[in-house]
Amino acid sequence: MMDTAFASAKGLGPKRRQALEAAGIDSFQKLINSFPVRYEDRSRVRAIEDIAPGEEALVEVRVSGKPSQARVHGKTITRAVLYDSTGKISAVWFSQPWMFKTLAQADVISLYGRVEQKNGRKTLNTPRVVTERGLIPVYKPIDGVPAKLLKDLMKTALGMPECTAPTLPQSLESACGLMPRPEALSQIHFPSDRAALERALYRMSFEETLYFMVSALRLKRTEEKGEVLRFTARDLDVYERSLGFPLTGAQKRVLRQIAGDLASEKPMARLVQGDVGCGKTAVAFGAIYLAAVSGYQAAMMAPTEILASQHYESARRMLEPLGVRCGLLTGGMGARERRRAVECISSGEWQAVFGTHALISPDIRYRHLALAVTDEQHRFGVKQRTRLGKKGFNPHVLVMSATPIPRTLALILYGDLDVSVIDELPPGRKPVKTRIVPEEKRGAMYDFILENIRRGRQAYFVCPLVEDSESVDAESAESLYGSIMESPLSEASVVLVHGQQKPEEKEKALSAFARGEAQILVSTTVIEVGINVPSATVMVVENAERFGLAQLHQLRGRVGRGSDESWCFLMTEGSSKLKVLTQTNDGFFIAQKDMEMRGFGDIFGTRQSGALSGLSLNIARDVKLLETVHALAKQICEGHTEDDLAVISLSEKWLGAKNDIVFAAN
Ligand code: ADP
Ligand code: MG
Repeated sequence: MMDTAFASAKGLGPKRRQALEAAGIDSFQKLINSFPVRYEDRSRVRAIEDIAPGEEALVEVRVSGKPSQARVHGKTITRAVLYDSTGKISAVWFSQPWMFKTLAQADVISLYGRVEQKNGRKTLNTPRVVTERGLIPVYKPIDGVPAKLLKDLMKTALGMPECTAPTLPQSLESACGLMPRPEALSQIHFPSDRAALERALYRMSFEETLYFMVSALRLKRTEEKGEVLRFTARDLDVYERSLGFPLTGAQKRVLRQIAGDLASEKPMARLVQGDVGCGKTAVAFGAIYLAAVSGYQAAMMAPTEILASQHYESARRMLEPLGVRCGLLTGGMGARERRRAVECISSGEWQAVFGTHALISPDIRYRHLALAVTDEQHRFGVKQRTRLGKKGFNPHVLVMSATPIPRTLALILYGDLDVSVIDELPPGRKPVKTRIVPEEKRGAMYDFILENIRRGRQAYFVCPLVEDSESVDAESAESLYGSIMESPLSEASVVLVHGQQKPEEKEKALSAFARGEAQILVSTTVIEVGINVPSATVMVVENAERFGLAQLHQLRGRVGRGSDESWCFLMTEGSSKLKVLTQTNDGFFIAQKDMEMRGFGDIFGTRQSGALSGLSLNIARDVKLLETVHALAKQICEGHTEDDLAVISLSEKWLGAKNDIVFAAN
């Protein structure tokens, strides 16, 4: 129900109210806690000659000659050459036909956008015409609600005491040197300068991290006994022998550790880390098999539908022959199919259920869930995890991650988890050959790829997530798609996938690629994690410098799945920091390097989750902050002062209000 004061705010008709509500904003409080996803620095006009590719910049320019417009594969491409007193720059707009007229009529025009190196020239990629100057907050756009109106509403909210009420005891604020909340909120929405904004953001991350830590510590305390699974060493043997390959030493060791946990009454909480391709699935399936032969159910949750379906398909191959009845539940299912799934889960007909977080929706009841596995764990939040946990009496929890999180950080983030590492790859893997490719070699690379495609291979093209705006990400993928279609590669069948497409559209493109009907998949990084296409042997990463090393390493793990030679091409202009990738395939070493260079945050990728009350921060960004807050949270959980209790109750409220807490999306 919309808050009455908010509903009657100036400028809000029924349509806009609806749009806001759909975006989860139904009160001034919610509004003020919808933080910008990022900020644009439009405080100064940049000289064209000073701007380096990769930067975002505000320019004040004139149009040189006439702009041009063309249609390529149904998309309008507008181009112009712009200049200021220091030099020239190209600009290109995708799917914005109106820009042609704007440019043709403009005298001096202010544009803000990202500068890229294209065909050897500095190029503004789909810049926007801007009027406002300063440090500009950028919010997740809400269809039908003008930014100006949001801003006015934000101002009103800032003036309301109930919106800026303190959320931490004042003694704690001053002891930790935190900016008071009203000031912080005002800086976040209307920043005066960078330094103040940083302090404001720090205060907010401190607060959320504290709530999170306190909640996590308290969740752990309510631990009870779990199910003791009864299986024999022979069962483990049967499973291992059913696989078409011998487990590696590391897989064996970890599976034994898990078996030990499952046989004990203390519920397992184990994180299995292992480089991409090390074979975590075979280990997880082993655990699932043990749960099934002990007469219980197991669930395995994956972050995407594709990945969930792939697990399900593998399970049908690997587990069903052993007599384990498997099923799939995803959000995209039709009503009838879903009804059947719900039934099979509650009756225990399915012993192993694979799915997305549909597995933890409220209407899903398990017959006797004893094991919950989550794959690519860093994509899941605490609450999702506990919710899956709550489905059983107290299930054993196994989380699988390819992101090497240092043990200390894992302990801080997940509490008292046991960590197992699979530090060995199956034999016979050919390491992916990785090369840094400058733009001028693109043509030669395309020829090489084309040759591979003609021999029945497939290729991925990945664009970076530019920012927290799916439409901008979609644009960058579309523009790449457009340029591939203009190149000799258009001989192949090319599909495009990005976050703005409808799920069916995405599924269609992905499955065409998975089935080999399409040879090139162009995508943003949103969807790719974990898909397994053995004949894909080439991975091209555009603007590779925008990725973290660890993330690039994970990406290239998508190729080299078969026995063929495979390649990863990092498109970038003279970035030496990526060299380490051409020299080693050791994911842990790479993660270490990544940390040395960029700090923890980027281990998870630069895309910030915004999931913490819409705040654009990454919980893992600052390990110092995590350590400080962890110590404080422990003290608070053990303490009994009024302030301690106040923070505990605030944390409970905070956790209750969250749909979920996601550490970092990547
Ligand atoms: P990840 O750890 O990245 O999830 P997967 O579980 O998807 O890796 O395994 C990658 C590939 O390696 C799969 O095709 C799997 O069948 C294969 N595989 C796993 N373990 C072994 C092994 N011990 N020997 C040979 N191949 C294996
Ligand atoms: Mg996997």
